[in-house]
Amino acid sequence: MIIDTHCHIYRSEMENADEIIKEAAKNDIHLILNGTDPQSNEEVLELSKRYENVHAALGYFYSFAEEITDEDISLLDNQLENNEVIAVGEIGIDYYHRKDNRDKQKELFEKMLDLAEKHDLPVIVHCRKAMQDTYDILKKHDVMGSMHCYQGSAEMAQEFVKLGFYMGIGGPITHNNNKKIRKTLKKIDISHMLVETDSPYLTPEEKRGEKNTPLNLKYIIRKLAEELDMTESQIMEITAENAKKLFKIKEH
Ligand SMILES: [Zn+2]
Repeated sequence: MIIDTHCHIYRSEMENADEIIKEAAKNDIHLILNGTDPQSNEEVLELSKRYENVHAALGYFYSFAEEITDEDISLLDNQLENNEVIAVGEIGIDYYHRKDNRDKQKELFEKMLDLAEKHDLPVIVHCRKAMQDTYDILKKHDVMGSMHCYQGSAEMAQEFVKLGFYMGIGGPITHNNNKKIRKTLKKIDISHMLVETDSPYLTPEEKRGEKNTPLNLKYIIRKLAEELDMTESQIMEITAENAKKLFKIKEH
């Protein structure tokens, strides 16, 4: 079993979502689909009920910080009761794309973390140019989770690990120009790594120009094996165990 711990394979992002999910199932790939707003959360929930290899993460993304209402929050609160839901995500803060509404972003992030605590669920965190604020906010909450597409330093990764976090490793490690992330990787213990694609985004080097799919996880695993001097099956096995432990996914 391989687990793509972060992707967006639903119709509003990819027309052929059903096809991709079935293809992933044939390859024993489980998917954690991440919603970002009320509409995509609904899609994720529906797909997780329909397909055995789909697990739901529901949350509100920073880009909707101004739009999310109290009603939306209570809707999510109810949806998190569902058995298919294994995490609160994609949530987080991003000062690269939006500098103008930091307080609003932080406020929404805190509300998402409160819900994760209430429902005893791990979180899947997006963080861009906001490392210190993300860390400070997470530290105040009793949550574990994944730092999706981790791009920070090895030192900072250690701090997140102490809080109970895993580093999500994806397509950027295969990009020719991203030497920094490959250097950082070597200093993070494999016992705190997860693999993910962020499909349809962050396509690996091998498939540049195409929409990304979970089937491309193999390129990430291959690169990780190369960089860490381990076999691909070791990488697959250890990262799947990490994901199963964090998200409480059972083999059947
Ligand atoms: Zn994402």
